[in-house]
Amino acid sequence: MKILIKNVRIITMDANMNEYDQGCIGVEGAVIAYIGGEEQLPQDFKADKVIDGKGMLALPGFVNAHTHSAMSIFRGYANDIPLMEWLSEKIWPMEDRLMPGDAYWLSLLSIAEMIMSGVTVFADMYMFMDQTAKAVARSGIRAVLARGLQGPDPKAEQRLAENRRLWEEWNGQAEGRIRIMVGPHAVYTCDREYLEKCMDLAQELGAGIHIHLAETRHEVEECRRKYGKTPVEYLEGLGLFKHHTLAVHCVHLSREDMDILKDNGVHVVHCPISNLKLGSGVAKTVDLVDKGINVALGTDSAASNNSLSIMREMNFAALLSKGINENPVLLPARQVFSMATKNGAEALGWEDEIGCLEVGKKADIILLRQDGPHCHPTADPITHLVYSGRDSDVDTVIVNGKILMEGRQFTTVDLQEVYYKVEMIQTRIMGRI
Ligand SMILES: [Zn+2]
Repeated sequence: MKILIKNVRIITMDANMNEYDQGCIGVEGAVIAYIGGEEQLPQDFKADKVIDGKGMLALPGFVNAHTHSAMSIFRGYANDIPLMEWLSEKIWPMEDRLMPGDAYWLSLLSIAEMIMSGVTVFADMYMFMDQTAKAVARSGIRAVLARGLQGPDPKAEQRLAENRRLWEEWNGQAEGRIRIMVGPHAVYTCDREYLEKCMDLAQELGAGIHIHLAETRHEVEECRRKYGKTPVEYLEGLGLFKHHTLAVHCVHLSREDMDILKDNGVHVVHCPISNLKLGSGVAKTVDLVDKGINVALGTDSAASNNSLSIMREMNFAALLSKGINENPVLLPARQVFSMATKNGAEALGWEDEIGCLEVGKKADIILLRQDGPHCHPTADPITHLVYSGRDSDVDTVIVNGKILMEGRQFTTVDLQEVYYKVEMIQTRIMGRI
C-alpha cells in the first residue's frame, strides 16, 4: 500500500530539525519513502491512497512511555487518596477479580483513547500482558510490553515465567510492532533476590527493564531505612542500570542520584499528572534535562491520571517546570515536544525506527487539524500544540504505514463494542456503579 499525504505542514524532528510549510510524505508499505516538497516527489510514486493535508500539521506520533493500559477499568474508581493506600486498599484487592480475557478489552479501551489523542506507541507494565499484546496486534498500534513483577510471594516465580513466555511469543510480532521488556514493579515491591532474578531474565533475553523509581518520599525513606541507600543508589549497587532502563517517575532524587542516572544512561519517564494526582510531588525535570539525561513523557494509568493524553502531559510538564522554578524560559515548547516524540523513542530503545519523520523510518505519522478557535491566530504550531492543543485536533493516525484513524473514524477498533464489553466487566467485578 502506498499513501501520499500532500499539502501538509510537516515538523519532522529529524537530525536537522527539517520543517516544511507545504510538503508531502510518501509512505510505501511500513516506511516513509519520501518527505519534502511536492515538486521533488519521485515521478514513479503512484499512491493507492491520497490524503489532502490542507490546513493540517503532520508530526511524528506521540510516545506514551509509561502506562498500565488494562487499568482503564479503574478510571474514576478510587480518587483523592494517597498512593500506598490507593494501591493496597483499593487497586490490588479489585485486581484479584480481573480475569485474563478482561485485559484484552480494557487494553483496547486504553489503546483507542491513545490513538484518538495521537499516541502511536506506548510502554506498558501489568498482568495478563498476552491479552494486551493481542489488543495491540488487532488495533495496529505499536507497544513495548512488560509483565509487572513483584516478589517474593507464592506467584512470584509464575510472573517471571509469564514475562519469559511473553518475550518468546510476542517479541518482534505483529509486523514488528511489539517488543518486550522485563518489568520489576519497584524497589518496594521486589526484594533483592527477586530483582536479581529479573535482571538475570533481562540479561538472558537481551531485553530492557521497565521499573517505577523514586516515586514518593516514603519510598526513598523506606529504602534508606532498609538498605541505607536511596532507591537509585540501591539499584546501581545491584547492577540493574547495566541494562537498558526505563525509570518511571524519578520525583525524589538527590544530586548524586541524578549523577548516577546520567552516568548509567538511564532513561527517565516523567509522569507529571499522575504525580500531581497522587500527591507524590513534582519531578525536577529541568535539572534532569540540564544534566543531559534523556527524559520522556508518560501518562501512567487511567486510574491515577485519569487520561492517557500525551498532549496534556506536555502541557503540564512545561507549565509545572516554569511555575515551580519561577522562570518562564525553562522547558520551552519544542523541548517538551521532543520529550513526547524523539526522547520517548530513545527511552524505548526504538529510535532506529521511530520518533521522527525521516525517509527509511517507520511511518508512524499523525495529522492534526489546525482549524479550531484555539489554533487561531496562526502562530508557531508547536507552541499552539503544547499550550492550547487538544486531543480532538488529532484527525488521522498512521502506524507502521497503516491508517488506524482517519477523520477521527477508527479503521481497526469498534468503539461501541469496546464500551459494551468494558461495562460488562465493570458490572461483574464492581457491581453496578
Ligand atoms: Zn505506573
